[in-house]
Amino acid sequence: MTGADHGWRTLEIPIRPGAGTPTHCPWGHNLAVGGVRQSWSQDYRASEWLCEACHALPSRGGLWARIDPRPARHVTEDQVDEYGLRLVLLRPLTPAGIGSIQLRLGHTTFGEVQLSLCSIDRRAILVHVDIEEKHRRRGAGSVLVAAAAARGPRYQWTTLPIDRDPTSIAFWARTGAPGPAAPHPCTHQLEAKVVPADARWAKWW
Ligand SMILES: [Zn+2]
Ligand SMILES: [Zn+2]
Repeated sequence: MTGADHGWRTLEIPIRPGAGTPTHCPWGHNLAVGGVRQSWSQDYRASEWLCEACHALPSRGGLWARIDPRPARHVTEDQVDEYGLRLVLLRPLTPAGIGSIQLRLGHTTFGEVQLSLCSIDRRAILVHVDIEEKHRRRGAGSVLVAAAAARGPRYQWTTLPIDRDPTSIAFWARTGAPGPAAPHPCTHQLEAKVVPADARWAKWW
């Protein structure tokens, strides 16, 4: 794969958020029992792991890549290059407004998470997560939610009410939200219109 490649990309190897050495594979195996092998994904520019317990089974699976969700690894638009899986930070226009983080590989954007952070009141609201339908179930959502949460450590997190469609419920049931689905905006976030009026009412019934 070269930098001149402008073709459509996929998340061929599934991803999960994390840094350092994993203790379990994404499919639940304790790696201390089954064994693990580490390599490097040239495509993602991230560490790649093979669960030997998974790989010994007939499906020969067990390969995944870990994407470091910490802010130090986020890049801004002017730092984006064509190499590797990137968490691209798009800052809000106003301090407590809605910003986003996109997961990209080359020219392909797999999805994004929208969030609002108020550093004065230390409140964070996860506004929306959207993964392109054809790239779902590869771990992009969990990487984006972890990247959002990592930007507001020790903040009081809430989320907008989650969609009640089966795909959305299954996603949040698997991934876990950073806070309760009852948005608790500060005055700056209200001014920035982070929470739509109908969502503010949702907590009353
Ligand atoms: Zn496994
Ligand atoms: Zn505030």
